Amino acid sequence: MKSKVYFIDLRAKQKQNLFSKLEQLLNISGIKNLIARQALVALKLHFGEDGNLSYIHPRLVRCVVDLVKSCGGLPFLTDTNSLYVGSRSNAVHHMHTAHKNGFGLSMQGAPVIIADGLRGADSIAIEINQQHFKTVDLAQQVCQADAMLALTHFKAHELTGIGGALKNIGMGLAARAGKLSIHSTVNPYIAKTCIACGSCIAYCPAGAISLTGPEGRASIEEARCIGCGQCLISCPEHQIHIRWDESVQNVQQKIVEYAYGLLKVKGLNSLFVNFITNVTPECDCYGHSDAAIVPDIGIVASSDPVAIDQASADLVNKAPGLRDTALKGAYRAGGDKFRSLYSHIDWRIQLEYAEKIGLGSRKYEIIKVLKET
Ligand code: SF4
Ligand code: SF4
Repeated sequence: MKSKVYFIDLRAKQKQNLFSKLEQLLNISGIKNLIARQALVALKLHFGEDGNLSYIHPRLVRCVVDLVKSCGGLPFLTDTNSLYVGSRSNAVHHMHTAHKNGFGLSMQGAPVIIADGLRGADSIAIEINQQHFKTVDLAQQVCQADAMLALTHFKAHELTGIGGALKNIGMGLAARAGKLSIHSTVNPYIAKTCIACGSCIAYCPAGAISLTGPEGRASIEEARCIGCGQCLISCPEHQIHIRWDESVQNVQQKIVEYAYGLLKVKGLNSLFVNFITNVTPECDCYGHSDAAIVPDIGIVASSDPVAIDQASADLVNKAPGLRDTALKGAYRAGGDKFRSLYSHIDWRIQLEYAEKIGLGSRKYEIIKVLKET
């Protein structure tokens, strides 16, 4: 059976602007069924790295917040800390960056709550018994919510080909240990330029770090390391690094298993909204936004995270590619833009696997909510 994916384009006129169209899209997609009175509703989004500009427009997020409130819910804006050092690697930096990019109580009327806490260690282990993981470490604050709206900036992605709803929740709601286990099969490593200050030792909950490496440098004892990832943000000299050794296929499947843990095992009531605008060639974790590879397309919503990502990718590929961008080909309507950017990544793997383990369907029908204005 085909899943329903509702669509609005970006045409607007005086009496029907994008806010009213977005509201109508969410109403027809069933937002009211999702939100009970006084329900704590997580609005999962990406606030953008400092310097990035392609994240979802803060004013559109305000529109969603207002609608959730009108349904009786208590919305909060949320994301998890990044695995690596940057402007979102702990809750303090993350909230400053969110504020700088236009997100927070004074802008949207909803607070920012970083879902995995101060340092990315606040997680709940959920048993899933899937191919890659027996348990997944999900961000605690989202697991405690009553419902979730996954607001996703749909784009290309350098690790997974596409960055859609599955990526937004699968990777985006993994706590730090979870993110590390998605990206890497081994413990972090310490660079040869470590200055042997010893500051990182106190951050390791397993006592795996000591100054016993060559020339007194820090060293990680593999047998003791529990893969929590805390050391990655502990070094003031940025000398502790991730081994990005996981394959393209496994990263995608692992992300899907995290989404499975939240949606199927935890059973969080969710609605997915993909903003197919500013379709950049890379994710919003970079401190820059490269030019969009296709013209802006619209906004889609669905209760099926697989169908919405399949539909979003198809809409991008059906669009004409833009010249003088990162695209290397596939300019014609119908050409695979994502494979043109990343020829070694088959982005369909995540969708096939998600369908296989019961997260949704790749078959969909697009229902246009309003006629072109
Ligand atoms: S890894 Fe960093 S924090 Fe640890 S001893 Fe070396 S320089 Fe100091
Ligand atoms: S990943 Fe965690 S357990 Fe392993 S060395 Fe780093 S802080 Fe210690």
